Amino acid sequence: MYTSFLIKYAEIGIKGKNRYIFEDALCQQIKYALKKCEGKFHIHKTAGRIFIDAESEFDFDEVVEHLKMVFGITGICPVIVTEDEGFEKLCETVVKYMDEAYPDKNMTFKVHARRARKNYPKESMEINMDMGAVLLEVFPEMRVDVHKPDIMLNIEIREKIYIYSEIIPGPGGMPVGTGGKAMLLLSGGIDSPVAGYMIAKRGVKIDAVYFHAPPYTSDRAKQKVVDLAKQVAKYTGPIYLHVINFTDIQLYIYEKCPHEELTIIMRRYMMRIAEEIAKKTECLGLITGESIGQVASQTMHSLVATNEVCELPVYRPLIGFDKQEIVEVSEKIGTYETSIQPFEDCCTIFVAKHPVTKPSVKVIRKHEKYLEEKIDELVQTALDTDELIIVG
Ligand code: ATP
Ligand code: MG
Repeated sequence: MYTSFLIKYAEIGIKGKNRYIFEDALCQQIKYALKKCEGKFHIHKTAGRIFIDAESEFDFDEVVEHLKMVFGITGICPVIVTEDEGFEKLCETVVKYMDEAYPDKNMTFKVHARRARKNYPKESMEINMDMGAVLLEVFPEMRVDVHKPDIMLNIEIREKIYIYSEIIPGPGGMPVGTGGKAMLLLSGGIDSPVAGYMIAKRGVKIDAVYFHAPPYTSDRAKQKVVDLAKQVAKYTGPIYLHVINFTDIQLYIYEKCPHEELTIIMRRYMMRIAEEIAKKTECLGLITGESIGQVASQTMHSLVATNEVCELPVYRPLIGFDKQEIVEVSEKIGTYETSIQPFEDCCTIFVAKHPVTKPSVKVIRKHEKYLEEKIDELVQTALDTDELIIVG
């Protein structure tokens, strides 16, 4: 029945003279999302609105499902587009539309007409009244409610006439690419994919880095991270995933440093390496899935220790979230099932029985001195052997 969609967007509508940048980015993201759908589509901006016209057969559910993943969209309105063949014909089309779209007529409605083309023979108010009267006559069970109607029937008169009443909620946020780029530390866990999703939702493009420790961590564990990146990329567009071999660094820390500080020192090296890659790739910040107190390495004291090695801002969107709240988002965005697959993570393999929960930065720095002899070279090798996988 539908041949077009009207795309509603909220926040990006208020960006003054930068507005077109946001609209163009949104069109770009819509294009990217629809590439994965069957059919041909024409995306165009008209007078502060974005329309998607189908130019071939398409699968309605598939298109809606993909549009629901485009940040910046607040509402997806399936639209009937019809030529202007006079008011009577328009009423016929609207009656047919209402009949098909709403089998149960026990509802209230309001007609809301907008005349973008002023030479249309009726004014908006007249259209509202006359079409309302026609609908009431054909469907006596329906009632008009001008304040809180169940159905707002929108009629937009342009070159063609657009009819729509349904608004399918979009994900909100800002179009990816309008907010610069950040480097996500992506592990195989539940938290980091959610963290990436949340920052991308604010318009930020995402690159990612994963530290693996073969043979202690398997190819399956790495594949799991690629799969998570793939799922996140459905929202963010392609993700450049850097896979860093962390084994020698980890073994060296294990050999030289007190075991209760292993995780913290390891995390500090992850941050340092992530920042190196971030700076080389024009990322403006790092993103982690940390949340206060979740584990020993995420107490306020530990966060001071991991934070101090970075110059770039570290974004931790889950910082005040409980685990259950994070799980809910991961289920919503489709990463949960992959995250709970039981593959080892490099952090869990070298984990100490009693990790420090209140590390002293001074002490940590002193113990990192034990690494002086080889660590720079190991870090350099890790950076030099960076494996880049483009996901999505
Ligand atoms: P997650 O569920 O994201 O794995 P977590 O609860 O297991 O988090 P930690 O293992 O302490 O927490 O890791 C904290 C954060 O550090 C992660 O959210 C992630 O951003 C980053 N991180 C941890 N391990 C890795 C890794 N192997 N590769 C890349 N980033 C990692
Ligand atoms: Mg983890």
